[in-house]
Amino acid sequence: MRAVGVVPSRKEVRMLEHPAPSLSHANHVKIRTLDVGICGTDREICTFVYGAPPGGSDYLVLGHEALGRVVEVGSGVKKFKVGDYVVPSVRRPCPDPGCVPCRQDRQDFCSTWTFTERGINQYHGYMTEYFVDDEKYLTFVPPELRDIAVLVEPLTVAEKGLAQVWKTQQRLPWGGAKPGEPRGAGLNAVVLGAGPVGILGAMALKVNGFKTFVYSRSKKPNPKADLVESFGVEYISSEEVNVEDLAKKVGSIDLIYEAVGVPGITFDVMRALGINGVYVMTGIPAPKPPIPVAASEIMRNVVLKNQAIVGTVNADGDAFANAISDLGTFHQRWPKAVRQLITARHTLDNFEELLVGKAFGIKNVIAFE
Ligand SMILES: [Zn+2]
Ligand SMILES: [Zn+2]
Repeated sequence: MRAVGVVPSRKEVRMLEHPAPSLSHANHVKIRTLDVGICGTDREICTFVYGAPPGGSDYLVLGHEALGRVVEVGSGVKKFKVGDYVVPSVRRPCPDPGCVPCRQDRQDFCSTWTFTERGINQYHGYMTEYFVDDEKYLTFVPPELRDIAVLVEPLTVAEKGLAQVWKTQQRLPWGGAKPGEPRGAGLNAVVLGAGPVGILGAMALKVNGFKTFVYSRSKKPNPKADLVESFGVEYISSEEVNVEDLAKKVGSIDLIYEAVGVPGITFDVMRALGINGVYVMTGIPAPKPPIPVAASEIMRNVVLKNQAIVGTVNADGDAFANAISDLGTFHQRWPKAVRQLITARHTLDNFEELLVGKAFGIKNVIAFE
């Protein structure tokens, strides 16, 4: 089969000939790849800062954001049939029998740091014509979401983040949903960054009842600001409103959802977090030298304002299920906006422009059909 991957030992990003997979377990499902989304992680792997091939292979097939169609099921498969659309998750459990999270199918919290990740870390990804996986790592996609379901994986970042927010706010005796209201009702949320993870996060926060703002660098008007405001979220440019004025504009900030991966702005905005607020970090910056931060102001706030800072990586089965559910809501409420997140669909031959060329648009997708 044709596949696109990296050969780290030779610092190459290239088209590969990759063997077609077959079912080797009763719970296996074979999937025809339909769409694969490209993100910053793929582009970073193509600069060889991380990304490791599986043992015995000199290359790693890229791609961790995928949608596919089931073409074959093993004798033990219960959840899927041929023709179903599915989205696979990314992380696979470590082999350590003592890893409590992995043994409970919560490898997103793996405690041994020896997990694998499809398309990223020691496990081939989805940027190829077919792939096989255990049914437990797949989530069913309703046919009406076929055109946008490639957005599920980046949306799971927000879904797991939100699940962590609900758990964190259980520390407040009155925390939790009021009858008949979404859980974020009456709360203000600021999303840091207007990339795909940020915009999908803003949609998820809005659906969950938060009064939501996106805080990003570019001045208005710009296409991302127009998109965000088309679904009722106010866009604020950091070039026009500084961090000191952010809380004056928003009101008390109950939640900041960081989706920018840049440490300077991430820690600067932490100063604006409100009383009893939660700060969720999702970005993974490249290693860089230390930078100055307003440490005493931040530490005073964290203590005196009972703030919580939570990191979140990867996603569990519930986050995938919630992402499908919320994507269905986005599709009903904002069909045009959610489609606009997908900048363009490309053929596999276009891989070089997408992976090592200048970044453009919001979410570029490689389509296999
Ligand atoms: Zn990604
Ligand atoms: Zn583990």
